Amino acid sequence: MNASTMRSNAHFGGLLKPVPGEAFSAWLGRGLRAKSPAPFRRAADCLERWGIQDANIPCSEEALKDFSEALGLTSESLLRTFSLPSDWLKAPAEERRQFCMACLINDFCCDRQPTSRIIWFYWWFTVCPVHGLLLYEEDSTSAPTALVSFLRNLSFAGWRLSGRIERRSNLGRDMFKRLLLMASAFQEWYLASVQRRTFIIGDVDLAASVAEVELVMADVLAIIGKKRSYPVDQRSYIAQLLGIKSWCSLRSDLSPEAGCEPFLCLDIREHNADIRMAMFALLGLFLKLPKCAHIWYLGQREPNNWQIEHLWRGMLCDAVRVPSYLAWFQQRSGCWCAPLRAHFHYLLDR
Ligand SMILES: [Zn+2]
Repeated sequence: MNASTMRSNAHFGGLLKPVPGEAFSAWLGRGLRAKSPAPFRRAADCLERWGIQDANIPCSEEALKDFSEALGLTSESLLRTFSLPSDWLKAPAEERRQFCMACLINDFCCDRQPTSRIIWFYWWFTVCPVHGLLLYEEDSTSAPTALVSFLRNLSFAGWRLSGRIERRSNLGRDMFKRLLLMASAFQEWYLASVQRRTFIIGDVDLAASVAEVELVMADVLAIIGKKRSYPVDQRSYIAQLLGIKSWCSLRSDLSPEAGCEPFLCLDIREHNADIRMAMFALLGLFLKLPKCAHIWYLGQREPNNWQIEHLWRGMLCDAVRVPSYLAWFQQRSGCWCAPLRAHFHYLLDR
């Protein structure tokens, strides 16, 4: 162990140092396999004693005190290191299967066990801000297993993977990149807003709570991620953007007579990582986040309000339903708080 490692470990009571942004559960898992697992074993016993299934959710003050004693750290240090971004669209433990493979490879190169970052547990997080890569979905929730599986697929089916990339570049790699940048801008804005508990768009303070803004965003996402009735409706906008021509979760076999709700995306989990990424990119655009609009309209200085609103109305009116998507959306907006109804009136106009 060199001097700098010793110094940094000293800040963490001589325990295995967490990787920045590491999930508490992942750090605990690594600690149990480390050279001195005793404190981690005591922390794992605490989990059991308190009946805590998921170590990544806020626990009572008493349980937190118990954990800090087991690990020989202060409660403040634990809270600071393993803080949670929010509760919105957090995947349950058994569905935390998205990883940035470059981050995992970097762990491996730094001679540590590949480990999960807390931010990867959220459905709104789709792009690694360090590497600019779409998070990769694997079958396992374990970071080391996911990395092994990824590398195995890469070597045995490299031709398939490169085929995917090639198809993508044929249909417009630039569009994919633009969507990635927009999704990244959206998640950066959302994270910063949650951390300061204030949502600002351009120079407007939305004057609404985190939960109130999340309610609006969920309704907009329901429309963005809606499915087409195949073959009656036109191709979904996201399928067009991503060049998806085969079957995908944006297609439904239901007939338009099924109404409006069965086609809406009321559960983000029905779509895979590509589609989710495009959904959040468009969400950023429809919220008129300046960065997203700037990327979408390739550097125009001001977001083009007319174009954004036209695109949004297209999403609401691209298929005939009873009730219409617009009617559904307007009815949902009855639950929004007044400042948000006022700010987002352009989403509700006919
Ligand atoms: Zn990464």
